[in-house]
Amino acid sequence: QSTRTPLMAGNWKMNLNHLEAIAHVQKLAFGLTDKDHDAVEVAVLVPFTDLRSVQTLVDGDRLRIKYGAQDVSAHDHGAYTGEISGPMLSKLKCEYVAIGHSERRQYHGEDEEVVNAKVKAAFAHGLTPILCVGEGLDVRKAGNQVGHTLAQLDGALKDVPAEQAARIVVAYEPVWAIGTGEVATPEDAQEVCGAIRGRLAELYDQELADGVRIQYGGSVKAGNVAAIMAQPDVDGALVGGAALDPEEFVRIVRFRD
Ligand code: PEP
Repeated sequence: QSTRTPLMAGNWKMNLNHLEAIAHVQKLAFGLTDKDHDAVEVAVLVPFTDLRSVQTLVDGDRLRIKYGAQDVSAHDHGAYTGEISGPMLSKLKCEYVAIGHSERRQYHGEDEEVVNAKVKAAFAHGLTPILCVGEGLDVRKAGNQVGHTLAQLDGALKDVPAEQAARIVVAYEPVWAIGTGEVATPEDAQEVCGAIRGRLAELYDQELADGVRIQYGGSVKAGNVAAIMAQPDVDGALVGGAALDPEEFVRIVRFRD
């Protein structure tokens, strides 16, 4: 784990307009020190309409905060009304893009094929996918969380070559823990994150698997993040609700203190 720099990413979901985004990133920048940035990579995944404002602030003030989008089209351009493409995001110097978030899967019908195409589109345009996987409550109750999540991983990485897969970030987000206040136990998080690393070693090789960062997501807060981060295969957190409060997010980044 020591060779993997933890990644704390805030998923703002559909919150904060571009003016609020500027104020929020300023507060984050004010709260975070170089020591924080040396220890942990910090990213915000913002609504499309905020990206230009966040880019201007980050570039202009040389902030060490990374930013990205919450979704990307599988297509590069064309008649896809309402979609945003990989080339558009890379032009805005996005580093990351969330792909296959459970809210996309649930409300927008994204299946493995779509998620796989979006992962390929992200890599093709120099974006790092934060691939979201994880089981719903019914699957968890049936005890099939590992099988379910690994099937999502297999589908998302179909025909993705090792040199690209080596750069992916995987976020294990049990759907029953997202936005519910019900956080997985550290052991639950480790069980599936460890299995994800094991499957990456099978699909590619151990060296690649050891280098990939695997996040946990689902009701992470300053008060519960340290125990989760103490697990050997958890390399960061994808944070929804708690990331909307800059002071709380800074405390999450400082999980070691
Ligand atoms: C998320 O949106 O990815 C998430 C984990 O949300 P929350 O932290 O609010 O559960």
